[in-house]
Amino acid sequence: MKILIVNAGSSSLKYQLIDMDDESTLAKGLVERIGIAGSRLEQKAKGEKYEISQPLKDHVEACKLMLSALTDKEHGVVSSMDEIGAVGHRVLHGGMKFTKSVIIDENVIEAIKENIPLGPLHNPANLMGIRACQEVMPNTPMVAVFDTAFHQTMPPKAFLYGLPMDYFNRLKVRRYGFHGTSHRYVSARTAEFLGKKPEELRLITCHLGNGSSICAVYHGHCVDTSMGITPLEGVIMGTRSGAMDPAVVQFVCDNDHISADEMLEICNKKSGLLGISGVSSDMRDVMKAADEGNERAKIAVDMLVYGVKKYIGAYAAAMGGVDAIVFTAGIGENNAQLREMIMDGMDFLGCRVDPEKNAVRGEERIISTDDSTVKILVIPTNEEIAIARDTLALVTGK
Ligand code: AMP
Repeated sequence: MKILIVNAGSSSLKYQLIDMDDESTLAKGLVERIGIAGSRLEQKAKGEKYEISQPLKDHVEACKLMLSALTDKEHGVVSSMDEIGAVGHRVLHGGMKFTKSVIIDENVIEAIKENIPLGPLHNPANLMGIRACQEVMPNTPMVAVFDTAFHQTMPPKAFLYGLPMDYFNRLKVRRYGFHGTSHRYVSARTAEFLGKKPEELRLITCHLGNGSSICAVYHGHCVDTSMGITPLEGVIMGTRSGAMDPAVVQFVCDNDHISADEMLEICNKKSGLLGISGVSSDMRDVMKAADEGNERAKIAVDMLVYGVKKYIGAYAAAMGGVDAIVFTAGIGENNAQLREMIMDGMDFLGCRVDPEKNAVRGEERIISTDDSTVKILVIPTNEEIAIARDTLALVTGK
């Protein structure tokens, strides 16, 4: 079966068509600037790039353009959209309702709507993507895969904030965690790679990309994670501040006469690596500047390294030890220097990186020395395959 994976943003739609016979990617594309000037589609398939620029007023038009690119006689990969057996949608916030992926029906749509207050930027965009695909492919089954679902196994001691219980009971204020599909894929793949059952392992998975989160996976289940009610909590990220004393918000708002909304925008879009370094939100630029002697860039790198170290220490303590530490996503997969800096001085935990093995990019590999009692690995994440597998399993009932 061929499965289409859709990740809809407010003005963009990323997609990938996967042939589940061999899990190969047939086409990968992006429709951007939906509803604004300069709408365009870019698709990579059959080793070539295909671009179309045309006005797109909404996600329905974007969806139609995606299908016409996929079925294009010269550049497409399927002869008709009937060849697409199912669509898997990435959805940001499943709240407490969704502990796993589900076939989309009207009840699911209602529940995603109910979670809009928890994911005000992403859930409405995800819904637009679902609605548009339903309109254009009315007979194709669709599945929702939630970024939060994997983390729903956290116990209350890990997911509650220390607020009056009323805020949890009434408003569902709690830690939800994100990147769940990535942490789930990477932790399962680590067990396979090590030839172990998930029940035999205590893992710490470090998803370090533009957004970063760390997850404690005990015997195959998430028991804690660094992101919170939104993806703002945890370590510093490309443009997000990571965790801080919430009193900072009021302090700055009072001093600079800005609203809480404006301050949150600063915390989400102008902070983190960008805000500290003043150079860029992109780790490659920040590390280059640090190498060239830029002090602020050095501090930004050190803050990320120190933040990840603290989570590793905390989660090892929380799980009574750790069997493997796994690096994934853009920074985690590609930057040996950063992995080495994070693991430096962790001998006391039984962690030793082998510099030769660590000189790897984007491939599954153990990077610890043979005498390291904790295995350290690089496992490239593949959220699309995880979404496609869930979709296939749900639509075929297997
Ligand atoms: P992701 O969100 O997983 O796509 O990751 C994007 C982040 O990975 C960006 O901050 C990139 O700068 C970073 N990245 C990609 N390759 C490297 C690299 N070789 N060294 C450092 N950061 C990298």
